[in-house]
Amino acid sequence: MISPDRDDGEIRVELHRELVDVHGRRLFSAWAADRNFARLAVTKDQGRLRVGVDDGAATLPERRALLGAVMALATAEHLPGVVLSAGSSLLFRYVARAGGFLGPLRGDLSRDLGIPVPVAPGDAFEDDLLRELNALLPEGVTVRLDRRPGRLRSWMRTASSGVVGTVHLTASDASNAEPLRLAVPFEEQVMAEGVAQAIDTAIAVRAHFRPMVDDVRIFYDQSLPGLRTGSIAGAAYSSVRDIHLSPAYASAVVMDAQRGHHQEPQPVRVALPPFTRIDSVVAHEYWHQIEFGLESSRYGESVEFRRALGGYFGVETLEHVIKGASKGAPPNWQEAHRRLRDEVSAYAATAPKEATAELFSQWWCTGSDPPPSARFFGEVLSRFFPGTSGPP
Ligand SMILES: [Zn+2]
Repeated sequence: MISPDRDDGEIRVELHRELVDVHGRRLFSAWAADRNFARLAVTKDQGRLRVGVDDGAATLPERRALLGAVMALATAEHLPGVVLSAGSSLLFRYVARAGGFLGPLRGDLSRDLGIPVPVAPGDAFEDDLLRELNALLPEGVTVRLDRRPGRLRSWMRTASSGVVGTVHLTASDASNAEPLRLAVPFEEQVMAEGVAQAIDTAIAVRAHFRPMVDDVRIFYDQSLPGLRTGSIAGAAYSSVRDIHLSPAYASAVVMDAQRGHHQEPQPVRVALPPFTRIDSVVAHEYWHQIEFGLESSRYGESVEFRRALGGYFGVETLEHVIKGASKGAPPNWQEAHRRLRDEVSAYAATAPKEATAELFSQWWCTGSDPPPSARFFGEVLSRFFPGTSGPP
C-alpha cells in the first residue's frame, strides 16, 4: 500500500497481518524497506476502523506513510471512517491531525473518509497556532499572543536558545491570577497538541498551589546541552522562576530528530492514561519550583516534609533513601532505595529533590488509580499544603 500523502509517496508501507490477540484485535506489523517500524492493533468499532499505533521507531515521513496505509486499509474493507485510539504517540497524532483527524486533547481522534480535509485558511503561523490551542484547551482557558514575533528578534534568539525563533504566548484561566507566559518554537511544524498539554497541566498545577507558582514561565529551548541532544526533557532553575522544556515537545521536527528520546509511553506506575509524558515532565518541573518556594519561605517545614516522606520507605528522612544507593549504607536505607526505584522511578532515586518531583508527578498523573507511594505522597502534601485537593 502506498501513501497518497504529500512528499512521502516514495515510502512504500506494507502491513503484515500477524495474529488476533486475546481482545479480538487484529495485529499488524508495518514495514518500509525491510524495516519493521511500527505495530498496529485494529478492530471494527461502530462500522469504523479503530486503530492503536505503536510507532516509537518510525520517522516522520514513515508515520505519514503509515497513516496513508491505515486509511487505505479502511477503504479496502469498505469502512467509512478511522478512529485513532487515545494513547498513540504525539507524533502520530500530529500527523493524523494534519491529515484531517479531529478530536479532543489526549482523546480519540477520528476522520470520516468521505469528507475532504478542509484547507487551512493560510493565516499567519501564530494565528493558526492560537486557534488550535484555544480549540484544544478547556473552556475558560484563553491563549493569546504576548507579542508578535519579529523576524529580527527571532534570528537573534537562535543564538541563545538554539531554537529557530520563538513566539511568546500568554495563557489565562478564569481566575484573576496573572497569566502563564510561555515561549514556543516559531516554526511550521509546531505540535499544537503537545503545547496544549503543557499549558493544560501548567494551568491546573498553578490553580492548585495559587499563588506559589503563578509567576513561573515556560520556555521551550535548548539552553542546556541535554535539552539539545534529547537526553533531558526539562529543567527548572531556582534563581529564576522559569521552567525549560525540550523543544521536542513542541516541534515535530525536533522530536523526529531526537528519535529514541521522549517517545515511549510512560510506565503505568509513572503516568496512567490520559496523562502523557509531557504531563509528567511539566508536573515534575513545576514541583521543583513549588519546593524551591517551600524551602525559601518555610525551611523548617521542608525538612519535616522530607522526613514524612522518608517514613513511607521505612527510614528517618528522604536523604537516607537516596544514600541507600551506597553499598556501605544500612540495610534499611538500601531497601528504601530499591523501593523508591521500583515504586516510582530510577530518576527519583538520584537526589532528594528528584524523588519529590517524581513523586509529585506520579501523584498528579495516576489520579485514576494511584499506586501506594502516590497515595502516601498525596496525604503528606495535604498536610503541608492545606487546601490542595486531590490530583485532577
Ligand atoms: Zn528534576
